[in-house]
Amino acid sequence: MSHYAVTNPATGEVEETFATYSDEQVEAALSGAQIAFEQWGRTSSKAERSALLRRVADLYEERKEELADIIHHEMGKLPEECLAEVEFSGAIYRYYADNGEFFLEDAPIQREAEGSAVIRKLPIGPLFGVMPWNYPYYQVARFAAPNLMLGNTILLKHASLCPKSSAAMERIFLDAGFPNGAFTNLYITNEQSAAVIADHRVRGVSLTGSERAGVAIASEAGAALKKVVCELGGSDPFILLSTDDMDATVAAAIGGRYENCGQICNGAKRFIVVDSLYDEFLSKFAEASENLELAPLCSKAAAEHLAEQVREAVESGATLALGDGVNDGAYFRPAILTDIPEESSARYEEFFGPVAQFYRVKDEAEAVKVANDTVYGLGSYVFTIDPAQGERVADALETGMTYINEVGADSCELPFGGVKNSGYGRELGALGINEFVNLKLISTS
Ligand code: NAP
Repeated sequence: MSHYAVTNPATGEVEETFATYSDEQVEAALSGAQIAFEQWGRTSSKAERSALLRRVADLYEERKEELADIIHHEMGKLPEECLAEVEFSGAIYRYYADNGEFFLEDAPIQREAEGSAVIRKLPIGPLFGVMPWNYPYYQVARFAAPNLMLGNTILLKHASLCPKSSAAMERIFLDAGFPNGAFTNLYITNEQSAAVIADHRVRGVSLTGSERAGVAIASEAGAALKKVVCELGGSDPFILLSTDDMDATVAAAIGGRYENCGQICNGAKRFIVVDSLYDEFLSKFAEASENLELAPLCSKAAAEHLAEQVREAVESGATLALGDGVNDGAYFRPAILTDIPEESSARYEEFFGPVAQFYRVKDEAEAVKVANDTVYGLGSYVFTIDPAQGERVADALETGMTYINEVGADSCELPFGGVKNSGYGRELGALGINEFVNLKLISTS
């Protein structure tokens, strides 16, 4: 049986199943992506591609209720969060429609010899994307929008939880006027995925997901000498050094930890607070956490895994300062862990759900040390009323992104990505169109 199914996490009911593709279907998709690249990707104008992306953005707007309802059933997030995701995804397509032609302009080079030279940004061919369930439309938009603007074509293997949203996206690209093969959805196994990565027609691979998937997919791509973008897990620090508005800081922290029921790669997961503010911040954060009405996690299995992580943390000596750490089906009440021993593995794991870790530190230097004591390096948040301190801490943090005195600021123009085990490569903004590009030198005497 296929493992592609819509299983409503709120009820546990399997609402719809989708058959895995046969190898013949996968071959047809590969050949379609190659033909679309040659006949459309290489030959269409930037203005034509931009117009198609603008139409995609319009369709996201026109279909937003239906699209939002699909992911509400697939992975359970709150209806208003579903709508916000659909709107943000549409905005990403519009952003590359509006700015893509500018991003792809030739870059002239001043030659030392006679003649002229430019760097021209050209597509490289069909790309394979492997995407997660936590933001089913947004994760795909970050990858698809810049690459379709460039003229690359896309093969998507979405998470097994998201068969319906992936089909809805394929429909949108066709309805917007993209040719067959420009964007193809695949319901495939990991073995078929490995064969797609190895296939000579596929020129690059982009993964958003766990470290475990990153290791598997980057190894397969490496063996086939293909470039990979890896957007992996995170355990982002939220550092509080000073504040002139504790309630606003607590509100930011609550948003940073509990949006999407805590299932965000760059969610604030470790709260690192100076001694003088720790007790007040923890008590206000705990009070606000207790009153939250959260959505379920994406599945019962995810909630069970989180409960297991909390149980192991407590066994290793951590204190469960809020919550019982026990799941009820896919539901999980907010929990807070404090006093986590240095040798506890909980300190170094990603908690993908509504569990906050708290660390008391004496000063800025210790805050940075604790923040960097992780294999992850995705985002980080610094709260301080001293702008020079904010900049200094931002420089010292081993992460791909630092937000000073803000959370949830993700936006189309701001590049997204990590360092260390959080991966490599950038999505969104001007950088996001530069990952799968042939930066071609054209030199004329
Ligand atoms: P996951 O288990 O790694 O799954 C992500 C995708 O990878 C799914 O489509 C999954 O397919 C596929 N996959 C897993 N192993 C594979 C393999 N060996 N070969 C081919 N495909 C494979 O991750 P998840 O649990 O769904 O997502 C949560 C993780 O993603 C967290 O660690 C989170 O931090 C990270 N994340 C990172 C970012 C970022 O931008 N840095 C954004 C969002 C999420 P199946 O569903 O069929 O198993």
